[in-house]
Amino acid sequence: LTLNQTLTLILTYLYLILLSTYLFNLLDSKASQGELGWISSPSHGWEEISGVDEHYTPIRTFQVCNVMEYSQNNWLRTNWIPRYSAQKIYVELKFTLRDCNSIPMVLTCKETFNLHYLETDEDQGSKFREHQFSKIDTIAADESFTQMDLGDRILKLNTEVREVGPMTKKGFYLAFQDVGACVALVSVRVYFKKCPFTVKNLAMFPDTVPTDSQSLVEVRGSCVNNSREEDPPKMYCSTEGEWLVPIGKCLCNIGYEEWGVACQACRPGFYKASSGNVKCSKCPPHSYTHQEEAVHCDCERNYFRAEEDPVSMACSRPPSAPRNVISAINETSVILDWNWPTDSGGRKDVIFNVVCKRCWPGPRQCEPCLGAVRFLPRATGLTNTTVTVVDLLAHTNYTFEIEAQNRVSSQAPTIRQYAAVTITTNQAAPSAVTVIRKDRTSRNSISLSWMEPERPNGIILDYEVKYYEKQEQETSYTILRSKATNVTLNGLKPDTTYLLQIRARTAAGYGGSSRKFEFETSPDSFSISSENSQVVLIAVSSAVAIILLTVVLYIVISRFCRYSKSKHPDEKRLPFGNGHLRLPGIKTYVDPHTYEDPSQAVHEFAKELDASCIAIDKVVGAGEFGEVCSGRLKLPSKKEICVAIKTLKAGYTEKQRRDFLSEASIMGQFNHPNIIRLEGVVTRSKPVMIVTEYMENGSLDGFLRKHDAQFTVIQLVGMLRGIASGMKYLSDMGYVHRDLAARNILVNSNLVCKVSDFGLSRVLEDDPEAAYTTRGGKIPIRWTAPEAIAYRKFTSASDVWSYGIVLWEVMSYGERPYWEMSNQDVIKAVDEGYRLPPPMECPATLYQLMLDCWQKDRNNRPKFEQIVSILDKLIRNPSSLKITASTASRYVTQETSTDITSFHTMGDWLESARTLPCKDAFSGVSYSSCDTLAKTSAEIYLTEVRPAATCPEWEPSMGITTL
Ligand code: AMP
Repeated sequence: LTLNQTLTLILTYLYLILLSTYLFNLLDSKASQGELGWISSPSHGWEEISGVDEHYTPIRTFQVCNVMEYSQNNWLRTNWIPRYSAQKIYVELKFTLRDCNSIPMVLTCKETFNLHYLETDEDQGSKFREHQFSKIDTIAADESFTQMDLGDRILKLNTEVREVGPMTKKGFYLAFQDVGACVALVSVRVYFKKCPFTVKNLAMFPDTVPTDSQSLVEVRGSCVNNSREEDPPKMYCSTEGEWLVPIGKCLCNIGYEEWGVACQACRPGFYKASSGNVKCSKCPPHSYTHQEEAVHCDCERNYFRAEEDPVSMACSRPPSAPRNVISAINETSVILDWNWPTDSGGRKDVIFNVVCKRCWPGPRQCEPCLGAVRFLPRATGLTNTTVTVVDLLAHTNYTFEIEAQNRVSSQAPTIRQYAAVTITTNQAAPSAVTVIRKDRTSRNSISLSWMEPERPNGIILDYEVKYYEKQEQETSYTILRSKATNVTLNGLKPDTTYLLQIRARTAAGYGGSSRKFEFETSPDSFSISSENSQVVLIAVSSAVAIILLTVVLYIVISRFCRYSKSKHPDEKRLPFGNGHLRLPGIKTYVDPHTYEDPSQAVHEFAKELDASCIAIDKVVGAGEFGEVCSGRLKLPSKKEICVAIKTLKAGYTEKQRRDFLSEASIMGQFNHPNIIRLEGVVTRSKPVMIVTEYMENGSLDGFLRKHDAQFTVIQLVGMLRGIASGMKYLSDMGYVHRDLAARNILVNSNLVCKVSDFGLSRVLEDDPEAAYTTRGGKIPIRWTAPEAIAYRKFTSASDVWSYGIVLWEVMSYGERPYWEMSNQDVIKAVDEGYRLPPPMECPATLYQLMLDCWQKDRNNRPKFEQIVSILDKLIRNPSSLKITASTASRYVTQETSTDITSFHTMGDWLESARTLPCKDAFSGVSYSSCDTLAKTSAEIYLTEVRPAATCPEWEPSMGITTL
């Protein structure tokens, strides 16, 4: 404490102590040393005498003792006493009184005297009229003294207090009337009570005189200097002059701290950043303040504070450079390790950034590494002291600069603190072969081709092809070498499953083996190329033209008859009605609903299985009609195979049974590697079951989400090719799927994708994405072509639109199309010409394919056949997949052109959408509904569409109404 502060404190307390006496004297006879000059009437009555009190202090007293005479009436009147603000006054009398019995031969002895008062507005001087006075009380002694007490010099002092009030005039007189007593008035004190000035909770409360009534006086306090009200401060002054019930408080301002009953400035070297009754804090390390009242401390030179650092935190500085960088090279990858900097700058948020430079020998020439180099986990913002760099070029010099940073690095002078290491990569073996195609199968041979590994890392000398019978479990195998990227394996057993692996060899040795691919030799006595099956079928059909013609004619005629019986002519799947030219000789899909007895259709297209051949293992999913299980099927003289078993739950209706089995009737008509294969049905015992091949990886959307960013583009294109091929087959058969979406594609352990979920009305009833349209049907809006939503024009061309959406789903690893936009916003945006933006890293060619699938005019969309051939070309020429949509393609909407290639998120896309035509619709009715993007997915069901009058493109008839 400084001397100054101590003095202030003491003085403040003294002041408060002085003021805290709540009795305020109006008169004190003891205080007067000289004559009091009170009026005595008659003059021989009361007598003023000098004396000493019990402490031998000189005092003035008045006495009267005319007990030897009759009819005494002696008055003693005080001087005029001003009232000030008092309403109720107190009179304290100290006196002694002689016991009448102790006085011999008295005549008129009394043991009391009377107290009177008179209110006046001014001093009346010596004018005294006794009748003007009002009596306050008769005063009697508690103890009177005797002759003996006098002898012993014992003073029996009585003290009596009387209240007078309420007073209204400016002052008053007191008068003492003696009627024959022997009394000495030792002191007279007149006072009133008040609540004195006080400071409570840093609020000052002034002197307050209570009212005469019984009620409390509410007093508002005012904050002491350098403080502010937190809650309005209040107290109540009682009639007894006491402060009661303090409420509210004041807080010292920032830069000030509470010091007794005041707020005092923080001293230099201290600061206070928040208001409140806490003490000033010492400046944290590496900071200072030379001023008083500081609210924060400034950082010393070369020390800083990050924006989010609290003022209580020490100032800090950038870290020193990392130390002892070591590198461990493994072919074309390197693991870099380093030690933590010696000085972290006083912070815990140190991160490391790694800069890669490719260097040439000789005078040091370096340039930043190209994008192909990958850092694991990443190149910047590393919190651990290690990073793995992969995909470097073989036999190349690299320099890595490892820089340490913390949150104040950006404020420091631009000196980079880094440690560098230079390395040379080794020769690397080629990467694994990822794409293998089966070109041709026969009873005893298989022809295969494959693509060169993505990173050959040198010249490929040859490929090693290893294969063996699946059943043999690799106990015996065959190895072939091939310089080309294709091979024919001869001398195989018919109808047998083989597993095969391929690896490439360069001067650096063998690369990694491919995954195991599974192939089956054909059971037929003649060979059919799967890819060219149509051509072969045409040849075969020409050879047996007469028989086939008869069969085709029979089918056409019989189907024509059934269609005419159908209840829903518009829902028929017409074999030639989808805009695709059908190849002669290709089997045509038959709608099972055209059968009068649907169970007849099941038995026509599906094999009845004996339930005893089926073993159920576990539940893998839930279908609309019951559980979906995995299990095994063992048919007599066949190998046991894994199967999926869809069951029809107990208590089904006849319609449910029909609908359930209709899927089998449809599936049973298909035979294609990319269409889920029906093994058979169980209808003659319960539970009713549909048995299909088992797809280990479940549905495609979930599979992609689970393996986000884990596949090469070629692998994804391979999957897409499979789906397109399956769809080509379906459209050739005249089957329109109507619900093509990633969730309805199944994936097996070899990443082969197969189209599933067939059915008629139930296809869409079952789909949680489907919403009702005005026409009453249920449609999965986000996947469906505009003409199918608007007027139920479902064709293979609308399936192509859905395929475009699947393409987008695959390239974005299972992202939800149009994110959380509401269905009506999707319909509107698509109708106005807007299309989904390219997914991240999506090759431009694939994005162009998506846009082609989403042509408004369905005739301009590619056919599945074309899609398959486009994807085949991409697979054969993977370099065409290197340019991503974000850098290359531009897209022209139906109405105008805009570059939408850089929008990877909903936000980007909509932001651009605002600038496009029909923006009124976006900024008005419809755009406001776009604000609901973040709403829950429960809103996939449409609620209401307000006809967007602002948008001329909108046709109210296309609107969707409440579910
Ligand atoms: P679905 O009723 O066809 O939509 O099937 C419901 C769920 O069962 C699917 O989402 C899959 O997870 C699973 N599932 C259906 N069929 C198969 C299958 N053949 N292999 C494996 N899982 C399947």
